[in-house]
Amino acid sequence: MPPTPRKRKAPPSESQPPPRRPPSRLEFRAPADGAWYDARVAVQCGALRVMYEEFPEEQDEWFDPAALAAASTRDVATLRARFRVVSLPLDDARCRDLRAGAPLCVSCELEGGELKFYDGVLESVLPAAHVIVDGEEQCACRFVVRWTEGPRAGSMEDVGVERVCCVQSSPVNDPVLTEFLDGVTKRLGKNRGGSDGV
Ligand SMILES: [Zn+2]
Repeated sequence: MPPTPRKRKAPPSESQPPPRRPPSRLEFRAPADGAWYDARVAVQCGALRVMYEEFPEEQDEWFDPAALAAASTRDVATLRARFRVVSLPLDDARCRDLRAGAPLCVSCELEGGELKFYDGVLESVLPAAHVIVDGEEQCACRFVVRWTEGPRAGSMEDVGVERVCCVQSSPVNDPVLTEFLDGVTKRLGKNRGGSDGV
């Protein structure tokens, strides 16, 4: 998959409320590389279509409900776990709110300079004086991250604020996705004839 330059934060206007995100914008962990991408979902001809933001539609993922229903409960749970609310870029002025152990989604530079987003956990912050540039506070701290996913899982790296997004704890609220997954789960139960665990 091509590199994913993630858009940085909204324009530095404090008085403006953040733009409302369309409800179907999600973060999706790609089966191919385990990295996180912004995506939207739709159901077409009964199948779940996952559309990566900023990628051509040839890269879309399709999930066939019949195939999923013939699989196992665990496969459906795995698919469900591939979705979450979009992680938000760390706000320069809010870096002090971060605590050790915070779940982060961090851009990881791969061989060849390609950037992909993988999860990590904040180990510590190396604080530095912030500067004001054009009226905007700029964080100069370094964030020591322990990678939990991706090619560097288990190792540590210290990164700047521009590479850090905060994983959101709020549950996914996407009616299309929920209806699809719940439908597959129901079919799964029927396929088993109610014989497992009932
Ligand atoms: Zn800072």
